[in-house]
Amino acid sequence: MKSHLLEVDDLKKHFSSGKSVFKKKSQPVKAVDGVSFAVQEGETLGLVGESGCGKSTTGRMLMRLIEPTAGAIHFQGKNLLELNSESVRSMRKDIQMIFQDPYASLNPRHRVERIIEEPMIVHHLGDKATRKKKVHELLEIVGLNSFHAKRYPHQFSGGQRQRIGIARALAVEPKLIIADEPVSALDVSIQSQVLNLLEDLQNEFNLTFLFIAHDLSVVKHISDRVGVMYLGKIVEMADRDELYNNPKHPYTQALLSSVPIPDPDHKQEEIELQGDIPSPSEPPSGCPFHTRCPHVMDICKSVVPVSQEKEKGHNVACHLYDDQHMAI
Ligand code: SF4
Repeated sequence: MKSHLLEVDDLKKHFSSGKSVFKKKSQPVKAVDGVSFAVQEGETLGLVGESGCGKSTTGRMLMRLIEPTAGAIHFQGKNLLELNSESVRSMRKDIQMIFQDPYASLNPRHRVERIIEEPMIVHHLGDKATRKKKVHELLEIVGLNSFHAKRYPHQFSGGQRQRIGIARALAVEPKLIIADEPVSALDVSIQSQVLNLLEDLQNEFNLTFLFIAHDLSVVKHISDRVGVMYLGKIVEMADRDELYNNPKHPYTQALLSSVPIPDPDHKQEEIELQGDIPSPSEPPSGCPFHTRCPHVMDICKSVVPVSQEKEKGHNVACHLYDDQHMAI
């Protein structure tokens, strides 16, 4: 059995929201509220949920771009939250991030060669000639050409810019890549090209991915396992095929019902969720999904459901699966 490269235990991020005129006490915004998961070496874990569910905050805490309020993050056996700033800097060589908006994450005043070389300079890797050679190799690896090194980000399409972002992430030979909505800003036709590239690179370099997306259809092909987040918590986690074929949590079922299936004989009724995702500063009592759940019961309004393994590797946090209730 492969070892866990990353283990996240009860991770929380509560932001202070400040005092309001109407409330004496400020309520913390519970952006991430007790998230636990592990990722094996070479695996891709998809983390999915609507905007504001805490998935991107989780990714940024793993990089320590945001400091967690509580919990533990073990990477290669070391607790990242106990590292001093010097060790955090060297840890960032092994954990790289690919961002949603490649244009915003690439310095518009720098040529591509400088952008890709920069992480190698920061981590003192190679001399000038070695780094230059590597930049050219990386451009070829991500499907661009050596002559692109002299150009500026605005001279590329969105898909090409994301390839540059990927080349920059690969420059320091990371072990884990956190891809935060890496294809959301791209045309659908380009999305699959970038997803295929990421898959090829994973096989070639034995990369481990945490792939964050708001859309279950995007993570379907690339993920080995998928976790579904709602209001700062993981409500369901399972192997990819198990989750898509046998979703248990009503929220996962609703998300999946809106994913188009390319089979004209397959009739699927979309489950429409009522209302918006509640504010994380005033999360509902009990199950955080109870204000929108089509199966809500009395217990859901007062008792927080705990995550339980109902089938091997398939965890769900929902009272429908408590022993005294019938599974849907
Ligand atoms: Fe719905 Fe209750 Fe399950 Fe929450 S615990 S998802 S409200 S049935």
